[in-house]
Amino acid sequence: MPEAPKKSAHKFPSNLSVSEKNKKALHLIEDVTSRPDEIQELVLSEILSRNAHVEYLRRHGLAGQTDRDTFKKIIPVIKYEDIQPDINRIANGDKSPILCSHPISEFLTSSGTSGGERKLMPTIEEELERRSFLYNKGKGMYFLFIKSEAKTPSGLLARPVLTSYYKSSHFKNRPYDPYTNYTSPNETILCSDSYQSMYSQMLCGLCLHSEVLRVGAVFASGFIRAIRFLEKHWPMLCHDIRTGTLNREITDPSVREAVLKILKPDQKLANFIETECSKKSWQGILTRLWPNTKYVDVIVTGTMSQYIPTLDYYSNGLPLVCTMYASSECYFGVNLNPLCKPSDVSYTLIPTMAYFEFLPVNKNNVVTNSVTVRDSLNEKERQELVDLADVKLGHEYELVVTTYAGLYRYRVGDVLRVAGFKNKAPQFNFICRKNVVLSIDSDKTDEVELQNAVKNAVTHLMPFDATLTEYTSYADTTTIPGHYVLFWELSVNGTIPIPPSVFEDCCLATEESFNSVYRQGRASDKSIGPLEIKIVESGTFDKLMDYAISLGASINQYKTPRCVKFAPIVELLNSKVVSSYFSPKCPKWSPGHKQWMNIKSS
Ligand code: AMP
Repeated sequence: MPEAPKKSAHKFPSNLSVSEKNKKALHLIEDVTSRPDEIQELVLSEILSRNAHVEYLRRHGLAGQTDRDTFKKIIPVIKYEDIQPDINRIANGDKSPILCSHPISEFLTSSGTSGGERKLMPTIEEELERRSFLYNKGKGMYFLFIKSEAKTPSGLLARPVLTSYYKSSHFKNRPYDPYTNYTSPNETILCSDSYQSMYSQMLCGLCLHSEVLRVGAVFASGFIRAIRFLEKHWPMLCHDIRTGTLNREITDPSVREAVLKILKPDQKLANFIETECSKKSWQGILTRLWPNTKYVDVIVTGTMSQYIPTLDYYSNGLPLVCTMYASSECYFGVNLNPLCKPSDVSYTLIPTMAYFEFLPVNKNNVVTNSVTVRDSLNEKERQELVDLADVKLGHEYELVVTTYAGLYRYRVGDVLRVAGFKNKAPQFNFICRKNVVLSIDSDKTDEVELQNAVKNAVTHLMPFDATLTEYTSYADTTTIPGHYVLFWELSVNGTIPIPPSVFEDCCLATEESFNSVYRQGRASDKSIGPLEIKIVESGTFDKLMDYAISLGASINQYKTPRCVKFAPIVELLNSKVVSSYFSPKCPKWSPGHKQWMNIKSS
């Protein structure tokens, strides 16, 4: 009888040394990747037996069966909207076992949205243990931040997954070890003021510069923002290092105390940083200031690949290491060959994390490089779902998960391609998030959201008898932070010229219409720059069509792409710009869902 790894397989005794823990983790990976199908069957059976009595499974007619065939026959493949009513009940205080027999400990707020608001993913206490297994990192300068959290009407916390992790005892009380330590004291990471958090983390990173062996952040976009911060604030940082005193703007007492333990007056170091930072070129600044750095640990797969050239520039081509693939729904997998090229990164899904299924997807759209996936599935399509052990090399699939926390056959929205195998377990390239056209940081804007936002914005042009004839968009990452650019071609019948302030209103109206993750990026995290509208001369979009046809697009099927990435197309559009406008201020944003605000104020 095959045995599943023990329930506590991801938790190692605390008295084990780091190298023993690493050895055990590798052994576990070796084991579970050697028999993925067996493990998957056991994982599904464990999830279904412990949740046999939950309302959701009963509603669909599962009466305690735990086998794969019955599960697949009876339980539908779903999207978030299908379980939103159940999620809302939990958020509003219904404590009965609706999705999961274990109590929901909090909600993890996804950067994926529904109806403009972050999706709420239920989680349970033990899930953190499963996740922590993949969070082991070594010594380095990491820029890590918490984001704001909200409470659902029933008082359950709703916050992003990493905020939940950094605030947990798993992170805060991680055993001290000289080789698994960050330059940022916990207090600086847990400070909710993003300026104070970034400043103090950068200062500590500079003070400990010779000890830093690797640098990183979660996403490439976040790491580049940290370099930008240094570009702006190095004189003040040098002042603090020279004098051994801390910038008065750092007011959080626990942050001050933690930083002052590291900060010592160091004239030589301050001079060194000043010399490097005042050089005209910042090429290789990372290797100059942190000379022992061996690699940059950031996610550069998916939309983050747009930042690779900038990272290469600042790091003089140091290896870019992507270690893991994870989400609010569940932890998926790790990159077992971390020093490979970013374009070759593949993630091995860990068969013990959840029960995985794969929905085959067809053709990429060559112009937008995005994948459009069917929204609802017919019977035949449902039967096309395959198990982890049955995916085929080179094929693309949408990921579907069944988790311990109560998601059953849930479509995550990510498209993956099978790149190879670790033992018998498939390894996947991350291809894209389905339907997403624009992304700068963790924001994900799809075509429908873009269309609605543009529709709302153009109402400002009506008094001038002007209409929008065509538009497209582009994620411009040459600025730091990056920003969305819309190219608009107008037909103007009115005689009164349209004042710049009207176009600025259009920019802001577009931003106000985007989902809350975008607005948070703009207003709170400052991880996205002001949206720009570029007006192009009339006839530009005809030229775009001519160009696409010259590349082989069919004239009958040609549709204006709503987002462009291909450099020659962006160049063509930029060469036709007659004027450009930026959003004059940040769109409105506040933590928590809109519905919850109404409850509070009513
Ligand atoms: P969230 O639910 O906000 O934590 O976002 C999770 C999503 O981020 C995933 O479903 C992916 O679309 C994306 N993501 C996470 N890790 C990676 C990775 N290593 N490479 C590319 N995209 C990723």
